[in-house]
Amino acid sequence: MTIDQFNFAGKKAFVRVDFNVPLDENFNITDDTRMRAALPTLKKILADGGSVIIGSHLGRPKGVADKFSLKHILKHLSELLGVEPQFANDCMGEEAAVKAAALKPGEVLVLENLRFYAEEEGKPRGLADDATDEEKAAAKKAVKESQKEFTKKLASYADCYVNDAFGTAHRAHASTALIAKYFDKDHKMFGYLMEKEVKAVDKVLNDIQRPFTAIMGGSKVSSKIEIIENLLNKVDNLIIAGGMTYTFTKALGGKVGLSICEDDKLDLALDLLKKAKDKGVNMVLAVDAKVADSFSNDANTQFCNVNEIPDGWEGLDIGPKTEELFANVIKSSKTILWNGPTGVFEFENFTHGSRAVAEAIVEATKNGAFSLVGGGDSVACINKFGLAKEVSYVSTGGGALLEAIEGKVLPGIAAINE
Ligand code: AMP
Repeated sequence: MTIDQFNFAGKKAFVRVDFNVPLDENFNITDDTRMRAALPTLKKILADGGSVIIGSHLGRPKGVADKFSLKHILKHLSELLGVEPQFANDCMGEEAAVKAAALKPGEVLVLENLRFYAEEEGKPRGLADDATDEEKAAAKKAVKESQKEFTKKLASYADCYVNDAFGTAHRAHASTALIAKYFDKDHKMFGYLMEKEVKAVDKVLNDIQRPFTAIMGGSKVSSKIEIIENLLNKVDNLIIAGGMTYTFTKALGGKVGLSICEDDKLDLALDLLKKAKDKGVNMVLAVDAKVADSFSNDANTQFCNVNEIPDGWEGLDIGPKTEELFANVIKSSKTILWNGPTGVFEFENFTHGSRAVAEAIVEATKNGAFSLVGGGDSVACINKFGLAKEVSYVSTGGGALLEAIEGKVLPGIAAINE
């Protein structure tokens, strides 16, 4: 079933959204992108004459905690949606069931943070540090057992299930995947956001226009190995940027000064370079760096060859020669995936490389390339530069996007398709 085919008139929809928005110390939402992203789905259901039961997580609570209450987002949701939402203080309590049952067409009920219950994630909580393996296994079994009741109860509130939380699609949690089995094929579907995400990933995985270039930035090789290995089977060009650069540089015999470098991953870096060569993939490494004498925005800086970083200095961004090198590869590409900044973009003085990459992607997109930007920090980057609208698609998923691109089947997607 697709959301466009479904008529929600008179129906109650359980919509799993990702309202895991950043809040400041006064509980003001500092970035509402995720909430806005869910609006088309919520509005369609309400416009059809349906009612909505919203389920989400917020943060990583270890139990009930006011700080992580979804009550903090209600006011803003009402402004965005133009409907005053009701709230159930406990997603499992009597109140939730009563309020859900009483919902009328056009009404919205927000359930309290699903992760106040360990059952949402299905992981035991409160285990003593010195718990034995047997105790751990017993606790896991217990939470899996009670997870069934939890999931069933959530499902009982609604006539149909809509998953619009791409950010958690790689987790087999109660509300993101397990709940789907309580609804038949005609009563479960992706929301508009999920549909778009799935389509964008599909384009990068299965409908590749070549050359296909991936730009992998960020801090560590170790967190991106799987995706890099997988991309080697797909891309024509693989640009390595960000902190990862220096592990490759050192592996190749260069001097990296104080730059972040994973010394235990040098062999791995060489292995990746060899694999790329064997597969005919053009692995593009930085040639120069903007180096700093401390990890700070106000540090003294200079440019130098990437493999000749002076002692006491560290690479915090790519240099101008690398910018040009990367930009040329990007501009000649027809499919582009960008994950991770080229430097410490949080510091204004080290955003230049990431901006150059973003601008090259924009230009390639204007010339007909399909460009997908995803993973938390590259999204923050493209938003910071005001270029989000100039690329083909900005994904809301970090881990979920990467796992999808690694070729993994995401539980949240499989659960709808089953
Ligand atoms: P990731 O979450 O792996 O995509 O990494 C993003 C983080 O990598 C950002 O917070 C950047 O500041 C950081 N990063 C990028 N380049 C460097 C660098 N050269 N040195 C230290 N951190 C970096």
